[in-house]
Amino acid sequence: MFNRLYVHIPFCVKKCHYCAFISRNPEKDELAEYPALLLREMLLHAPAARPLDSIYFGGGTPSLLQPLQIARLLEKFAVYLGISADAEITLEVNPGTITHTSLKAFREAGINRVSLGIQSFDDAFLERLGRIHTTEQSRQAFQDAREAGFTNISMDLIHSLPGQSLEQWRAELRHAVQLGPEHISIYGLTIEEGTPFARSYPANSQELPDDDLSADMFELADELLTAAGFEHYEIANYARAGYRSQHNSGYWKRDGYLGLGVAAHSFLRDGYGVRFSNPDNLEEYRRSVTSGQLIRIGEQRLSRGDARAEYLFLGLRLAEGVDLRAFEREFGRSFESVYGPIAADLVRFGFLMQNGRVLALTSRGILLSNQVFEKFLP
Ligand code: SF4
Repeated sequence: MFNRLYVHIPFCVKKCHYCAFISRNPEKDELAEYPALLLREMLLHAPAARPLDSIYFGGGTPSLLQPLQIARLLEKFAVYLGISADAEITLEVNPGTITHTSLKAFREAGINRVSLGIQSFDDAFLERLGRIHTTEQSRQAFQDAREAGFTNISMDLIHSLPGQSLEQWRAELRHAVQLGPEHISIYGLTIEEGTPFARSYPANSQELPDDDLSADMFELADELLTAAGFEHYEIANYARAGYRSQHNSGYWKRDGYLGLGVAAHSFLRDGYGVRFSNPDNLEEYRRSVTSGQLIRIGEQRLSRGDARAEYLFLGLRLAEGVDLRAFEREFGRSFESVYGPIAADLVRFGFLMQNGRVLALTSRGILLSNQVFEKFLP
């Protein structure tokens, strides 16, 4: 029912000004107590597991956990869920929370991929974003990760920051390429309701790049990173050959995954699939886990129509597109009989391209992907 595991660590040193993720500063014993809750939750799901092909510690700031805590979690996951010999095991790392020694210890604990939350190589932007680290700390974290033995390093960058020019964004991309990661994820800043940024930058703020400039930034990333040898394999993701994110690729291919921890989402392969999430505050999560009666928030059992639509809009995120023969094997109907007229319109207007039995987004479709995906909703 699942072969991937996501573990959410809902703690951060300090809230970034743009962040709407579930995370907060840990109170006194919370960091020490949390792994035991994760294990209790894991035991309640263990019978449905297949050996895990990937594990992803995300947050929040998972690098606030001690390497020993991660080592113990991985030992228990191996015993109760099973971990494939070549599983990808990722830790999201905030450059302001680690040292050379701790990175080495995380590597020894079994982490084999780090995802560095760099966001920007410009100290003025980092400060504006409310990040706790400097550019120098990001560079150091990258070097330390290499020296600790990590051969698979990803970094996150954000564009369309308030006041950011195309030339500043070009400098960010060059800085990233020059460090030499195996993987880069690129996100456009979105202003989330309820964050300090939503108050500072209302929708009509002159400081926010307009849609044209944001599109230029997206295209510049594509141009510069592909010229540097990265494959643009998913809307927001670039990888050197052999270094696509296995875990995230599983999401786009609708592999089953279990989410452990506060606010973690799960997708279990049962029928056409079941989606649900955990309580989004620690107190309720603790009650749910310790009672042995797990609370599933927003549980949705997918219909065949839901699953077909998901298959398409998740698969279309990938540059390789959707194999329509695989779609037909999965759902027992020809693609044309379900989506023929919708797909034909999207091809005619230049948002999709069809090559034999493969359907993929065009570069125009990538820029307007959300509007394209909506067309497939039941
Ligand atoms: S480190 Fe990440 S999760 Fe934590 S507040 Fe900043 S953006 Fe949010």
